[in-house]
Amino acid sequence: MSAPLSSPAEANDQPNFARLHGEACWFCGAVNGPLTPAGEVTLDGDAQVWQVAACQAHQGRRV
Ligand SMILES: [Zn+2]
Repeated sequence: MSAPLSSPAEANDQPNFARLHGEACWFCGAVNGPLTPAGEVTLDGDAQVWQVAACQAHQGRRV
């Protein structure tokens, strides 16, 4: 129970490439089935606006 952390914890803090590029559901990461535009997001400290998408289960939800 005392194993040292060997992987960077911050790796989980940033959305992955596919979700940022609207190639996977923003909310759950699903890549199967149709994806619909879900809106735009920005990351803290970054002016870049990303167009993200949602799967059928999450379409209509606002980012
Ligand atoms: Zn989803």
